[in-house]
Amino acid sequence: MKLLEDRIRRDGRVKAGNVLKVDSFLNHQLDIDLYNEMGKEFRRLFPSDNITKLLTIEASGIGIACIAAQYFHVPVVFAKKSQSINLDGSVYAARVQSFTHGRIYDVIVSEKFLSPADHVLILDDFLANGCAVSGLIELVESAGASIEGVGIAVEKGFQEGGRLLREKGIRVESLAIVESMDADTGEIRFRR
Ligand code: 5GP
Repeated sequence: MKLLEDRIRRDGRVKAGNVLKVDSFLNHQLDIDLYNEMGKEFRRLFPSDNITKLLTIEASGIGIACIAAQYFHVPVVFAKKSQSINLDGSVYAARVQSFTHGRIYDVIVSEKFLSPADHVLILDDFLANGCAVSGLIELVESAGASIEGVGIAVEKGFQEGGRLLREKGIRVESLAIVESMDADTGEIRFRR
């Protein structure tokens, strides 16, 4: 998506450790006009009327999913990051290794909000090694629900998450795929 690529080129910052900072428009300060275009693009890429829920993970995914939901007209469910899984009631839970913070946490969704009848589109801001999305997939599978696909704002194509998911036959659509980035020069190249 050219609009997103142009914005990443203009305002993205490459940090050491393969981290792309996009906090001036994507995940701290949020450009809602850009979010809106991203939401439309996700809908164009996933036009199926079967989708019953958008599933994302707190915190950065929530805004993206909420704006996109205005084009899907289905509820957004976000997985909560939890220190312990003994919340009230019954939950689906999965373990996730955080890319940016390096620690392991549990993600949970109440059993009330995912059922075998659901067809779920997973949305998130970044795809790196695929741990966050794999955790979300595990939650969907625990519920016996179906996965319609995975929509990502920024995929770092030089990390393995996208390849691993696609090899499993999951449809992954990323609005921008970073092919390479250089913390010294700040140069960012996108996959064509
Ligand atoms: P993964 O689980 O695929 O390794 O990493 C995805 C998660 O880590 C995303 O939910 C995102 O919050 C965070 N993340 C991974 N790489 C980056 C990055 O380069 N920049 C930012 N801002 N977040 C990232």
